Amino acid sequence: MVYTIRHMRLGVFAALVAGSIVPGDVSIDGGRVTGVGLLPAAAAGLAAPGFVDLQVNGFAGVDFVAADAAGYARAGAALAGTGVVAYQPTFISSPVAACVAAIARLGTLDGTPLGPRVLPAHLEGPFLSRVQHGAHNPEYLLAGDTALADALCAAGPVGYVTVAPEIDYGLELIEHLAGRGVVISLGHSDADGDTAIAAFDRGARAVTHIFNAMRRWAARDPGLPGVALSRSDVFVTAIVDNIHLAPETGRLLIAAVGDRLVLITDAIEAAGRGDGLYRLGDRAVHVRGAEARLADGTLAGSVLSMDQAVRNLVSLGASLEFALAAASRNPARLLRRDDLGELQVGGPADIVVLDDRLEVRRTLVGGAEVYAA
Ligand code: ZN
Repeated sequence: MVYTIRHMRLGVFAALVAGSIVPGDVSIDGGRVTGVGLLPAAAAGLAAPGFVDLQVNGFAGVDFVAADAAGYARAGAALAGTGVVAYQPTFISSPVAACVAAIARLGTLDGTPLGPRVLPAHLEGPFLSRVQHGAHNPEYLLAGDTALADALCAAGPVGYVTVAPEIDYGLELIEHLAGRGVVISLGHSDADGDTAIAAFDRGARAVTHIFNAMRRWAARDPGLPGVALSRSDVFVTAIVDNIHLAPETGRLLIAAVGDRLVLITDAIEAAGRGDGLYRLGDRAVHVRGAEARLADGTLAGSVLSMDQAVRNLVSLGASLEFALAAASRNPARLLRRDDLGELQVGGPADIVVLDDRLEVRRTLVGGAEVYAA
């Protein structure tokens, strides 16, 4: 049962407020945080800003390219159990008609059951490299096309697009969409360093799943990953599952990226379901253990959950504050959403409560309990 909590204390030991751990309990009322640092505090439990995942293809048996409102509700309920309070449904490269339909369905979701906030779509394609397509079907990849991009944005809510800047008309597309307020992330790209620099100068603000599906970093050609790491104005999204990135690479990101690091899961419908054969768009994906791959072995999204990503980052040496910011405050700053990613007096009660092992005990969205262990 889902209900809104009024005039209530969470019963926690401490809270993560403005990046620091503040001892004391948290009170909420009417969907907002009304107090932090309150005494008496409970013996255990940390309240943190709920997690914001910018790249979720699907979850718990639901693939968002094909999902209806019931599917979103089912996926959302499962995502809430991983501490997620807001997410960008992510559509991989698909036939244009399928992409338009998926965006349009997203636009009809008002009134879905309570759960994580469903943010405008992340379009991961079709404006990507044929050389670095990864799990995307190369048949669906297209050159930069501002008219098509406008048509996709007109079909429903689109907030974020991953683009390969080196494709024909790629830089024009980036400048066009960034000018419309769409967040542009660079990825699935064979760009050299100079092209990456040009794309960031023209409005791109992030890199999609760094080091995966992009030209490698070399001494005299830093490529997209090297340029992204070097620029203080670029956010770095990363799949920290110790499969997409070696542990040493994860440690490099902790050291080099600081508050520009954004954890993403890139989860697919197999997440939370176990081994088997699943879909990602119209691709068949084989899942064994923690790995999701096409038949040819190409990694195809992940079965990672955001709470596990946070635990992984801490295991690699990040502080708790650092890891939690990478799952909440940093993605909110990338989206320029000051209503997300913070736990603060007067702000929305979008909260995850974690135990000493960083397992999710409870998730609230707008003061409504959407998950309890
Ligand atoms: Zn990808």
